[in-house]
Parts: sequence; C-alpha cells; structure tokens
Amino acid sequence: MSHLSGTQLTQAREQLAALEQQLQAEIREELHNSAGGTTLNLADSVHDVGEESVADLLRDLNNALINQHLAALNQVKTAYQRLNTGHYGECTDCGEEIQWERLLKQPAALRCVPCQSLREKTYDASSL
Ligand SMILES: [Zn+2]
Repeated sequence: MSHLSGTQLTQAREQLAALEQQLQAEIREELHNSAGGTTLNLADSVHDVGEESVADLLRDLNNALINQHLAALNQVKTAYQRLNTGHYGECTDCGEEIQWERLLKQPAALRCVPCQSLREKTYDASSL
C-alpha cells in the first residue's frame, strides 16, 4: 500500500490531471507547428542549403520535443495507474517510498532520487 495519506493522494491526483492537460496542450501545439505552422513556413521560404538545414534542425527539435512530451504523458498515465492500484509513491526500481517533496515537484515521478540518478547515469536524462 501507498505510504501517502488520503489528502496527499488527492493532491497528487489533481497535480497529475493538471500536468496531463498541460502536456496534451503542448503536444497539440507542437503537432500543429510541425504539420504546417512556423516550421513548414520557414522551410517554404528557404533559398539555400544553409537555411534548409536550419529548417530541418528546427523540425527535428520539434519532433524531439513532441517525443519527450509524449513520454512524459505516458509517465503521467503510469502514475495514474499506480494511484488506482495503491502503489503511487513507491519507487518502481527498488520499491522504497518516494519522498513527498519530490512527488510535489514531479507528480509523475516513478523512482526515488537514488534510483533516478543511477538511471540517468546509466542511460540518459531523457526519461524525466
Ligand atoms: Zn528506488
């Protein structure tokens, strides 16, 4: 069972909902941009190879951002599932309790601080 109180769990649920909405809005905006917004307009007005690579770079950056936000959204969904199964706030790697202060800042955090920094050292910092 979760080590968090009912009040804390309610607060976590509200924060996850806010985060989910924010991510969805950002992803919508980014999809819009890559599908015909600023990035493509820029590409239309390219005249030489140099400017073309800038447009490519911007498009790649936008895609990277979308992927990052999609990954974050998936993490929010996983956090929801854990809330519903009573495992919210438990580290997915070691099973220890994640500090409430950390969850307040990152409601979708799935790992405790030691496991998270270990993971960032092992892989990269792309998974929140
Ligand atoms: Zn851990």
